[in-house]
Amino acid sequence: FFIALEGGDGAGKSTQVEALAEWIRGKGHEVVVTREPGATPLGRRLRTILLDVSSSGLSDRAEALLYAADRAEHVESVIRPALARGAVVISDRYTDSSVAYQGAGRQLSAAEVARISRWATDGLVPDLTILLDVSPETARERFTEAPDRLESESAEFHARVRAGFLTLAAADPTRYLVIDAGRDPETVTTSARHHLDRLLPL
Ligand code: C5P
Repeated sequence: FFIALEGGDGAGKSTQVEALAEWIRGKGHEVVVTREPGATPLGRRLRTILLDVSSSGLSDRAEALLYAADRAEHVESVIRPALARGAVVISDRYTDSSVAYQGAGRQLSAAEVARISRWATDGLVPDLTILLDVSPETARERFTEAPDRLESESAEFHARVRAGFLTLAAADPTRYLVIDAGRDPETVTTSARHHLDRLLPL
């Protein structure tokens, strides 16, 4: 079973990934927690390039392809092997981040970015994608760990990213669970668990 957590910066993804992993482990399942970009040796090098503030000179298409390369390596060496042995995989970001950030945020075509991702992953789609949706104000309050990353993009960019995620969720309601992540973390975890309880073959 493959779960992806998505959302803008400051949505609280890492907290929720850990909480859900612990809960599913408690039910006796192997859980592999992973993330993008940067879950593999190649991915860690790509993450350094992608998140280095001075690499803001990177062209939009090159950026999209580096995220796709990170994802291809991630799927091949981490996600597929884990799923093959029956583990539950929880990934902090996946394909929809590219559609939202590079597609909507950078205004590359969302359809083209989705196509590149489909090729990179050889068509691996999560069983469930949880979108943690927060207002820009809440995101800014929470995202204190690397404010320069948040501020390196305009408010319009972040608004496009958020709208990009919501568009994806609206287009595929059976795969998507949208959670209002502006609430306290325990409430957010409880609503995700409630939904997963009905879905997971646990
Ligand atoms: O989720 P995490 O904080 O590790 O993501 C790192 C950064 O990479 C985020 O701040 C996000 O802005 C950026 N990102 C991106 N495009 C993606 C995935 C992440 O711009 N496809």
